[in-house]
Amino acid sequence: MEMTLTRNRPAMLTSPDQNMLIGGSRVPSASGERFETRNPANGELLACVAKGGIEDVERAVTSARAAFEGPWRRMKPAERQRIMLRLADLVEAHYDELAMLDTLDLGAPLSRTMLGKVRAGALLRYYAGQATLIAGDTLPNSAPGDLLSHTLKEPIGVVAAINPWNGPIGMSVWKAAPVLASGCTMVMKPAEQTPLSALRFGELCLDAGVPEGVVNVLTGMGDVGAALSAHPGIDKIAFTGSTGVGEKILHAAASTMKRVSVELGGKSPNVVFADADLDKAVPAAAMAVFANAGQICSAGTRLFVQRPIHDEFMARLADYTRTIRVGDPLDPATQIGPVVSAPQMEKILGFIAGAGEEGARVLVGGGRVAGMEQGYFIEPTIFTGVADEMTIAREEIFGPVLSAFAFDSEEEVLTRANATPFGLGSGVWTRDLGRAHRMARGIQAGSVWINCYQMLDPGVPFGGYKLSGFGRESGPHHIEDYLETKAVWINLD
Ligand code: NAP
Ligand code: MG
Repeated sequence: MEMTLTRNRPAMLTSPDQNMLIGGSRVPSASGERFETRNPANGELLACVAKGGIEDVERAVTSARAAFEGPWRRMKPAERQRIMLRLADLVEAHYDELAMLDTLDLGAPLSRTMLGKVRAGALLRYYAGQATLIAGDTLPNSAPGDLLSHTLKEPIGVVAAINPWNGPIGMSVWKAAPVLASGCTMVMKPAEQTPLSALRFGELCLDAGVPEGVVNVLTGMGDVGAALSAHPGIDKIAFTGSTGVGEKILHAAASTMKRVSVELGGKSPNVVFADADLDKAVPAAAMAVFANAGQICSAGTRLFVQRPIHDEFMARLADYTRTIRVGDPLDPATQIGPVVSAPQMEKILGFIAGAGEEGARVLVGGGRVAGMEQGYFIEPTIFTGVADEMTIAREEIFGPVLSAFAFDSEEEVLTRANATPFGLGSGVWTRDLGRAHRMARGIQAGSVWINCYQMLDPGVPFGGYKLSGFGRESGPHHIEDYLETKAVWINLD
């Protein structure tokens, strides 16, 4: 098929070289080195991006520290709020460009990247509200004498935000919003596969009036993330990515006692009971795993279907899956694009081959999309006959691959749903209110979606149990992760 490629190239990409953003300027790396970022739909070179090294880590941390020591943290909350509200307007006004950058860099179809506009604006406005709500408490004490005690909330300092590639602009906004609201400053390290929209977002921060050095965007490889994780000038790390890298970051951060939050991988169960509304559950179960070509941390990759409806459900799911349009990310009708890179595609195809060898059966898909070998397109794939012990039932694939299981009782499915080291998302489909609540209590995961899937909102916390990490992003308490609490005692005698 013909792809509509260089058409609609965002203005930012008229320059083939993309520099990092430090202290309010787009600068090359100290070494002058660059790395390529390419479009996974066709291999087209998008840009040569500054490849940060140790010297650039120093420059970025120094810049963020200077901005933290400057007027930013002492700015009136209402002024920080005004800047954030301007940023929300600017991000929305430029969203076509941001979405296009992500579509080209990641391969996610425009139909998906454009959906992020509402969320990006909502996140910035929610946290803008939080900027004026940060408050300590006056607390009673029973100490001898007459002492008044109260707490002060202070921004924690310089934050390193280390991001994955699967939702670039949304992740940049999610990480920056609490930093800006709290009066912290940041060094943001986007994934090497998708560095472009973070750079554009950094420019928009400046345009909105965020002072220079408050948001620095340090492009580069994993070694830059590792250097930030160990750097004594970083006070907090907000990491989203794989469980393996999360573990390395915890080790690296230990000796400087950094505050750390880690949003990691998943193998989320999606449970359909026989009394569910199948008209809703069938398409939702498909998109719970196939959206973004399966590259979502909380994807519903383990589908449990109660035995009386199992065969009917799977037949309907297979029919629905065959209608999903995989193709050119720039075509507005496309629902699923390629996966992000050749190594990622090879890894996913390896899981698919391994599943066959372990005895699972392909119901739909099972390989690359024929005729589209110029990109990393993989068919939405459903396996049946999967045993709980098989590799595809246990490990995060991060591709469009679903493992389906039959179950009999509520008790049994709860045990099997929880028999994973992960605990990020989960779905339950039933019309029985008591069962819905029992499942919500019983599932060990940071989110339980009942008769829906993948719901997110700035006001509702999101995060993991077990190996899916700790810390919750969004919700009224998230801002606390960016604040120190100081107790002040005043002797009134
Ligand atoms: P990744 O390999 O863990 O990389 C994430 C980020 O960490 C990248 O910026 C990476 O840089 C950097 N990095 C690599 N090695 C590092 C080190 N030793 N120290 C510090 N930083 C280092 O993850 P990914 O492949 O980009 O993303 C997929 C994973 O993210 C999946 O496991 C998925 O489940 C998870 N994820 C979780 C959530 C959630 O909210 N829980 C959301 C989205 C994704 P390079 O890009 O240069 O390697
Ligand atoms: Mg790329």
